[in-house]
Amino acid sequence: MLAWAAGATASGVRAQQPGLTLPEFVPRSMLHVQETRLERSKFPVIDFHSHLTWSDGMDGRQRVTPTAPPAEVLAVMNRKNIRTMVNLTGGYGAGVAQTVKAWDRAHPGRFITFTEPWWARTPEPGYPKFQAAAIEQAHRDGARGIKVLKTLGLYLRENLKAGKLVKIDDPRFDPMWEAAGALKMPVAIHTSDPEAFFLPIDRHNERYEELHAHPDWSFHGRDFPSDRELQEARRRVLRRHPKTQFVCLHVANSENLAYVAECLDAHPNMHVEIGARIGELGRQPRTSRRFIEKYQDRVLFGTDAVPRGDEYPQQVFGEKLYEIYYRFLETEDEYFDYAPAAVPPQGRWRIYGLGLPDALLRKVYNGNAARLLGLPPVTA
Ligand SMILES: [Zn+2]
Repeated sequence: MLAWAAGATASGVRAQQPGLTLPEFVPRSMLHVQETRLERSKFPVIDFHSHLTWSDGMDGRQRVTPTAPPAEVLAVMNRKNIRTMVNLTGGYGAGVAQTVKAWDRAHPGRFITFTEPWWARTPEPGYPKFQAAAIEQAHRDGARGIKVLKTLGLYLRENLKAGKLVKIDDPRFDPMWEAAGALKMPVAIHTSDPEAFFLPIDRHNERYEELHAHPDWSFHGRDFPSDRELQEARRRVLRRHPKTQFVCLHVANSENLAYVAECLDAHPNMHVEIGARIGELGRQPRTSRRFIEKYQDRVLFGTDAVPRGDEYPQQVFGEKLYEIYYRFLETEDEYFDYAPAAVPPQGRWRIYGLGLPDALLRKVYNGNAARLLGLPPVTA
């Protein structure tokens, strides 16, 4: 609730009147500033982070559900200059083979599928070997990388949904990380979440509205580790598997780029992707630009886009979303929305464009991803 607002009465005496509630407050910026619309990116894009299918996660039934038909996705890709979409949640077992067939093989060069760990089998004694073999099979079936959701560290427990949380650096995953390195499959790993998700949902929480709408996104209290504990556990994995390439999704820890820089300096096998975090990068544009300049060979373009994912405006796959990302990376526009929504969904602030030069744009848009995925360099 906003504080009581002062209102003028007929007699001219100012009296207290009830103010707006927070959801009712939708201010419009009065700034007269440059507004650039970029319908296409300056260079072809590889979107390293999308969800064109969902797998059944911990259910263990190897089921995969598409979020949209390929033709619908391709139409947007062609209009927005997107060469290739990496679909991270392609499933596991029979599911991933099916995803590759329906997307990658049916539209060569346009889609790349990643496989996921077989979470349902993690409590079984033979799991470490089984999982490494499953990765090898997925590779034979056409998967080009591995996606690890924040399930690891925040949801997966010793007995799947009960017991102690399984740590990110639990040794039972070592054969999987090694298999990924041997097969040159990059690991896209989402660890932890915004720092505010680990704090009480109260009036000091900068993501109050988002957490109020999705209280299940909060990792405050109970037996959850802290953000830093999760980050450090991931670093131990990076250190233990130096030949495996890790892409830390969501800029690893986007509110703290100094810490991310420290991690990148320490781990040559670490890369970052920007999906669903331009709201964070764009409110610290000078730091972000310096960061991308310094780590220009290790930053990947991604959106975390989900076709028809209407619940989360910052991730809805569509033309508007890409135009915002292109504006953020390419222009020096000021104070604009990071998501197509009336109220900024990840916190009530706006962002500033980075105005990256061409050489950096090429690397971020496609060069770094192409190299990691073993694709031929993108020309044009
Ligand atoms: Zn994602």
